[in-house]
Amino acid sequence: MRQKIRRGIILVSLLLFPVTLNYFSPYVSIDGAMHGIISGSLLLFAFMFVTSIFFGRAWCAWVCPMAGLSEISLGVNNKNVNVRKLKIIRYSIFTVWAGFLVTMFVVAGGIKGVDPLHLTEKVISVDSPMKYIVYYGVLAIFIVLTFTIGKRGACHSICWMSPFLVAGFSLGHLLKIPQMRIKADSAKCVNCGTCDKKCPMSIQVSLSVKEGCIKTSDCILCGECADNCKKNVLHYGIK
Ligand code: SF4
Ligand code: SF4
Ligand code: SF4
Repeated sequence: MRQKIRRGIILVSLLLFPVTLNYFSPYVSIDGAMHGIISGSLLLFAFMFVTSIFFGRAWCAWVCPMAGLSEISLGVNNKNVNVRKLKIIRYSIFTVWAGFLVTMFVVAGGIKGVDPLHLTEKVISVDSPMKYIVYYGVLAIFIVLTFTIGKRGACHSICWMSPFLVAGFSLGHLLKIPQMRIKADSAKCVNCGTCDKKCPMSIQVSLSVKEGCIKTSDCILCGECADNCKKNVLHYGIK
């Protein structure tokens, strides 16, 4: 039941992507910075950072429109990916983008204002036929990467938003703030490996079970491991 609700939410989020596209856009943030403006996308990234202090990367399983796309893609390529290798690409892209963003703010003479609707004056992102090119372009990149790399391939390799979530998660952990996690009753585990197969983030869940909790920032709290474990080893909890 929980997975049906989750999939329903991210499917609606995916259907709403033509409306919300600009609020996730790294380009809109840069364009805002060039004018000294904090745009809607930058506000959203800040919101993601703050929520991840308490809820880790739950955004990636329960809210993000790209989560819906990744879930559908699992039916085509369900292969585990080399998370470490892809992380290098992702953080390289993020570093270049963040550096450019800061530079643009400096060149513009600092922050002059906040405009959540910057470049989205009609509130809806895809408001002209030309913008469908961007929309379909983003979808195509995510689909191709996930089909070719494997489970959530695009999330692991190019997502410019996940570093905000990882930073919030790490800050919460550092400050010992109570955080939502997947906890494990390791004594009940029979090492069947189902959780490893079901994890969309290619995490070796059965190894983390021995530690009593999934500790990695790659965990998106989807609950697939918990809902597929026949021995009820895994469950949501606060750490
Ligand atoms: S990694 Fe990025 S694209 Fe993937 S679900 Fe998370 S926020 Fe969305
Ligand atoms: S699915 Fe459950 S019993 Fe099987 S390895 Fe994972 S935690 Fe252990
Ligand atoms: S460890 Fe469990 S909750 Fe975390 S991403 Fe994997 S399946 Fe989802």
